[in-house]
Amino acid sequence: MKRIIIAIDGPAASGKSTTAKLLARKLGYLYLDTGAMYRACALAAKRRNIDIDDDDALKDLILNTHVLIQNTEQGNITLLDSEDVSTAIREPDISLLASAISAKAIVRTKMVELQREMGKMGGVVLDGRDIGTVVFPEAELKFFIVAPVQVRAERRFLELQEKGLSPVFEEVLEELQKRDKADSSRALAPLIPAQDAIEIDTGPLTIEGQVEELYQHYQKRMAEL
Ligand code: C5P
Repeated sequence: MKRIIIAIDGPAASGKSTTAKLLARKLGYLYLDTGAMYRACALAAKRRNIDIDDDDALKDLILNTHVLIQNTEQGNITLLDSEDVSTAIREPDISLLASAISAKAIVRTKMVELQREMGKMGGVVLDGRDIGTVVFPEAELKFFIVAPVQVRAERRFLELQEKGLSPVFEEVLEELQKRDKADSSRALAPLIPAQDAIEIDTGPLTIEGQVEELYQHYQKRMAEL
């Protein structure tokens, strides 16, 4: 059977990563969390104390930093210069820095190139902000996942609590709103649905419901191909 490229875009905490991961598992596809790659770049900049508005320093950092996503039974592992940074990139301060660094052309050019390399054989589900519009505009199946910001903030809040952190709801909400604004209004690869993306509101859906809905669309699309 043909192994296609599935693009899943949407704002932070919309449920796209969880759904993408489970859908990939159901289909026996690779899963690629592209946000983790921008997070790894942000972590590299933070660790080396680099001002991301200093173009030369940023260029030097990006050209000399090795970011890799590895697929394992447990999910994606993010490697930064061979170090497993999967946990470190989830720190709340990295989210906003990832959003800021991802607006830089040098960063996007390199990450998009890596993503295309990793996904070009098909049989892959990628989640991000610009997969259906920029990385793989030719993807056979595209989704744009949304949910009201309050619902997304509640999800992220619970996620952080489950990790043993003590989040403040208003701060979580504010961070998401800031990132939504920055990601949607930037000049390069802004967060917008591809014209042929199927929009799914995960607000009223359970995780199983989300996966099932995407799977139904997948089956329909495969019957057309
Ligand atoms: O998906 P996640 O929240 O982990 O992404 C972190 C940040 O990386 C986002 O806020 C966004 O600015 C950026 N990003 C991007 N393009 C992607 C994936 C993520 O610009 N394909």
